[in-house]
Amino acid sequence: MKTMQVYNTLSRQKEELEPKKIRLFVCGPTVYDYSHIGHAKTYVFFDVFVKYLRSQGRKVIYLENITDVDDKIIARAEQEGKKPKELATFFEKEYMSDMKSLGVDAVDSYERATDHIPEIVSQIERLLTKGYAYETEDGIYYDIAKFAEYGKLSGRTSQQAEDAVSRIDESVNKRNRGDFALWKFSEKGPSWKSPWGAGRPGWHIEDTAITEKHFGSQYEIHGGARDLLFPHHEAEVAQMEAISESPPLARYWMHVGFLTVEGEKMSKSKGNFLTIQDFLSHHSPRLLRFLILKSHYRSPMDYTEELLHQTKKELERIDEFVWKLEDAKGQDSDTNILQKARESFTKAMEDDLNTPEALAAVFELVREGNALFADNKLSKGEAKDILTFLKEQDAVFACLLPSKREIPPKTVRELLLKREEARSNQAWQEADQLRKEIQQLGWEIEDMDEGPRLKPIA
Ligand SMILES: [Zn+2]
Repeated sequence: MKTMQVYNTLSRQKEELEPKKIRLFVCGPTVYDYSHIGHAKTYVFFDVFVKYLRSQGRKVIYLENITDVDDKIIARAEQEGKKPKELATFFEKEYMSDMKSLGVDAVDSYERATDHIPEIVSQIERLLTKGYAYETEDGIYYDIAKFAEYGKLSGRTSQQAEDAVSRIDESVNKRNRGDFALWKFSEKGPSWKSPWGAGRPGWHIEDTAITEKHFGSQYEIHGGARDLLFPHHEAEVAQMEAISESPPLARYWMHVGFLTVEGEKMSKSKGNFLTIQDFLSHHSPRLLRFLILKSHYRSPMDYTEELLHQTKKELERIDEFVWKLEDAKGQDSDTNILQKARESFTKAMEDDLNTPEALAAVFELVREGNALFADNKLSKGEAKDILTFLKEQDAVFACLLPSKREIPPKTVRELLLKREEARSNQAWQEADQLRKEIQQLGWEIEDMDEGPRLKPIA
């Protein structure tokens, strides 16, 4: 079998993922607002990536940062009459709870920027000593003209890098337009002592300070959303490689594509801003994970009502198949559909985590399995092997199968069908009585957009 390939942004091609021991750093959230489904795309992907690597016997240490000091946090806190720290703590908790709901639990350690101020100061001191940084009236800046390879990760020339203005600190005293802040002297907002005066760190320096502390000056994989490639990741390269003089900072760089909603970029002003919590108040976390994994992580993904509808149908197809597998009692068919599915699934995952292809292999298995069921040709033993395979893959995907808590017993499912029938006959009293019976068995009915859902009573 071919060895595992991943697309490396640094070399702009697929490369063999060689190391058996992997230190992975992924850019975490800036905690000034609720996380949206675009964030979910990034973190669900890396969750699946890490779980897959671990399932293949690799050792992964997965580190993520939390940006808990930032201009956006300070601005929002001011708007809401809160202290920046209070606001950041609130949204950090919300983020953690969103990740928990989504089953994102492969991260070994979350590290806050504000817990690494001495490491940040130390990096800036070294950049100043080496001549890569300079002081102005309002802060310490990185001089991008001093780093000859600036632009190598994002594939920009230094002139293009200069011309880009997105999220680059504005200051009249900078040497080059593209120079970015390492330290900002601040009169208001949170501040820490430094050799140059009270202030707070710039955005990019926190990541290299955190990774240097926990991983050293070089590690295997850096990941994040595509929109962080420039200037954020480029700045990280410039900082750490200038300090260490041993490139590359990370051997592989992996970037997750954008998410749009009905063809448009998500924005609050357009009213198409969909938070993870908005989504989960109408649908299951399983649906969101599945929806995300249906497109390739590097591809842009367009979230639409139609996609949502189609994905629900697909989950139903899997569930019906699983119920059938559980009740299988046909003849032995000596089928090789499972082996075929297993091979296609692995081949897809080893090819730069092609989750849509892997899911296609699952649906092919469902299709072929259903054909065998139609001929009463799938034995209890064969069905059990297929179920075991699905469970194994679900340890990585966490959305192929309904979670244990989500599977209502047959009696409850039958009562629900009766209730649906009663409701369609407008027999409200009977429907209500059936609801109570279901409750007594420990299940609550939630009437969702897509129909009723059974939820275990906690
Ligand atoms: Zn970052």
